[in-house]
Amino acid sequence: MSATFPPLARRLDGLQSSAIRDLLKLTSRADIISLAGGLPDAELMPRDRIAAAADAALSDRSRLQYTESPGWGPLREVLAVRESARLGRTVPVDEIFVTHGSQQALSLLSEVLLDPGALVIVEDPAYVGALQVFRAAGARIEAVPLDAEGMRVDILRDRLAAGQRPAVVHTVSNFHNPGGVTLVPERRRELARLAEQYGFWIIEDDPYGELWFDRPSPEPVATYSPNVIRLSSASKILAPTLRAGWMIAPVQVCRAVELLKQGADLCGSALTQQITADLLADTDWLAAHVDSVRQVYGDRAKALVGAVRARFGDQVVSTDATGGMFVWVDFTDGTDTTALLPRALDAGVAYVPGNAFAVSTDYTRSMRLCFTTSGAATLEQAVDRLAAAHAQS
Ligand code: PMP
Repeated sequence: MSATFPPLARRLDGLQSSAIRDLLKLTSRADIISLAGGLPDAELMPRDRIAAAADAALSDRSRLQYTESPGWGPLREVLAVRESARLGRTVPVDEIFVTHGSQQALSLLSEVLLDPGALVIVEDPAYVGALQVFRAAGARIEAVPLDAEGMRVDILRDRLAAGQRPAVVHTVSNFHNPGGVTLVPERRRELARLAEQYGFWIIEDDPYGELWFDRPSPEPVATYSPNVIRLSSASKILAPTLRAGWMIAPVQVCRAVELLKQGADLCGSALTQQITADLLADTDWLAAHVDSVRQVYGDRAKALVGAVRARFGDQVVSTDATGGMFVWVDFTDGTDTTALLPRALDAGVAYVPGNAFAVSTDYTRSMRLCFTTSGAATLEQAVDRLAAAHAQS
């Protein structure tokens, strides 16, 4: 006899795991080279430095205790110094709020900024983790497409002029996940200006900004308007397991987030927050560490993009991968990337089809490739396998 359980809340109705995600569960097979994951390389994470910081933290028993909901004070101070340098203004500590990864900031902000039915504008293709939280908050979601220079702010401007009134515009300003592109400075300024003219919040979701390869990423959108809530994270430069993200937001927003954070998990971990503070405060070590991550990822990105262009020529248009973790590839020869996936898996390579990230644009002919977790030779082998699967189509 199968048990009948009471119903779950109606807000879950529209939320489901996609067929593509289910197919990608296969990618953990040992014979598959996966360009599908979105993970930083654990080999590059500073394990010994983290262990030393953990030891130092545990010499003080208070690190075993609960900490303040907005984050362990000394971490917020380190972050205030860091963000002041990034934003070119003095960021007070009470505008810094530490979250359980920047994903938690997205989740708490969606509750603080969005009434059910509120309009959220995201980029197309979109960061799926943001879509999930906005959907769970009951928001209406519209998308503005990306091009090589980031969000098409001109399209947003036209929609606003036509009467669309978002509560929030979400942007991954640097080295987009999944689109690979970076919002150019003119568009950053224009986006910030529009936020003030029409009175909406911008969530600038920036976990990849430090991972530039050739030249530093542009000034944050948050430089241009107080309506911008900026999110950053230690996940991609140190290690995701620290679950150390942070937001820079007006004090009123931080207070509202604090109320919800207390309900969600009371506070973060004083232990991992002290480890994070220790590593971020060691600025010479950090600069050298981040630089070495940039070097490795930059070499891998060039190897992947080079192989894609060499094997597929004018059958594809690919982003340049100037930073971050992803390359976005558009097939110009009509290849359907969802249909190609089972053949690619048979050939021993995985990627994420573009439509997994689509909101209202058709990305049937696109795919996201992640270059962080394999060396150059393996990436080239992966592209060979992809080309073999493609040749059968
Ligand atoms: N924003 C974007 C655009 C991401 O790609 C990710 C992680 N994949 C996150 C936020 C969340 O990262 P974390 O919670 O580890 O800081």
